[in-house]
Amino acid sequence: MLFAFEKIIMSQLISFVLPIYNEEANIPRLWEELSNLETKVIEKFGPDTYNFEYIFVTDGCKDKSVELLQNIHNQFSDKIKIRVFGRNFGHQIAVSAGQDIAAGDAVIIMDTDLQDPPLACLDLIDKWREGFEIVYAQRRVYKVPLSKKIPAWLFYRLMSKIANVSIPEDTGDFRLISRAVNDEMKKFPEKNRYLRGISFLTGFSTAAVLFDRSDRYSGKPGYTFTKSLKLAFDGIAAFSLFPIRLVSITGSVFAIFSFVFGIIYILVALFSNHQVAGWASLMFTIIFLGGIQLIMLGILGEYIGRIYTQVLNRPLYTVVKEYGTSSKSI
Ligand code: UDP
Ligand code: MG
Repeated sequence: MLFAFEKIIMSQLISFVLPIYNEEANIPRLWEELSNLETKVIEKFGPDTYNFEYIFVTDGCKDKSVELLQNIHNQFSDKIKIRVFGRNFGHQIAVSAGQDIAAGDAVIIMDTDLQDPPLACLDLIDKWREGFEIVYAQRRVYKVPLSKKIPAWLFYRLMSKIANVSIPEDTGDFRLISRAVNDEMKKFPEKNRYLRGISFLTGFSTAAVLFDRSDRYSGKPGYTFTKSLKLAFDGIAAFSLFPIRLVSITGSVFAIFSFVFGIIYILVALFSNHQVAGWASLMFTIIFLGGIQLIMLGILGEYIGRIYTQVLNRPLYTVVKEYGTSSKSI
């Protein structure tokens, strides 16, 4: 009895938060690799050191993902939790729904297409054991098409210049956070969530672990161009007012230009009989300025839209079915 009690005290729980969007082709391999990781953790840190729970959040999957996960749950019901969304809420919300029920001393957030290699978790756990509370995985190599690599590269550099919290470059959501960080992150009420930024806002100690990110194992990316763009602007809007400042800076620059040109034209009209020709240049200026104004209005609109969703204060997500948790369980 005492032995069992000691065992409970000694072993810690590690929760995995695993967002799933149409990953039927990856789930069997993912589960294999996660099981392999468990063996490796036991080899490295000893038996009874850690227990594991796997929280899968299915984000409106249209394929067989939920059925595949149910099968795994039937075999390992003690450590598998599944939350099923009835529609697609998006990756950041799926992860948040996982974080909401994660009971672990440490919580590992990772993609489920094997782009975040499960074995890299050994290094994350190592750093956590050294006492770091946010251990983020940073890409050393990023083997994806240039069409994804270049915008990502630009975005991370832009973010590091304009964000009002220091967010390391080339770092996605793959990370281990301590229970304390997870609890603090849950208090952030934003509806348009940029989780990696929020985790750094908590101010807990951080450490990086380098890893090589290859392309997804199988299937199509769920992050379409539009979704990636939204995430990028969620990050920018939540952590920087720079775009709004850009609106006034651009406005001021154009105002100064027009003032100078205005004076030049008045002087030309007064002191020379030179006719100001050029319907084309006039049209160009009007269209150009109109375009700039619309872009600037759009930037303001992005912020206003986010204020609006925040004010509506709708629940972040709705779970239609759950497996292995205390509520709505099957
Ligand atoms: N994902 C999700 N909801 C979405 C899109 C993606 O839960 O609407 C999950 C997806 O299953 C994967 C992770 O988020 O585990 C990253 O998505 P993806 O691989 O499509 O993004 P990329 O790696 O291309 O940035
Ligand atoms: Mg991916």
